[in-house]
Amino acid sequence: MSVYKDKRTRYCFACVANKNLFYSLGDLGRHFINRHLAYVEDGEGFDYDLCEVYLDNKMYMQRHAFDVHYIVIPASAAAF
Ligand SMILES: [Zn+2]
Ligand SMILES: [Zn+2]
Repeated sequence: MSVYKDKRTRYCFACVANKNLFYSLGDLGRHFINRHLAYVEDGEGFDYDLCEVYLDNKMYMQRHAFDVHYIVIPASAAAF
C-alpha cells in the first residue's frame, strides 16, 4: 500500500505527478492542507488512486498522510 518508503521524502503524494519538491516538511504539510484538504468538504471522502485507498474524511486523510507518507500537519493549521 505504501508507494514511497523514504521517510525523508518531501514530495507531495497527492500531486506526485507534478513532482513538487518542498524544502521542509513544514512547507509540505501546509501545502497538503491548502491544496488538498482544503478542497474536501466535511463529511466527504477522498479516493487516492495512487495508494489505492479510500479515505473517509479529513481526519483519515491526515492520518494517512502522516502514517504512510510522513507528512506532518502543522498544529497551527490543523483546525479540524
Ligand atoms: Zn500536493
Ligand atoms: Zn497514500
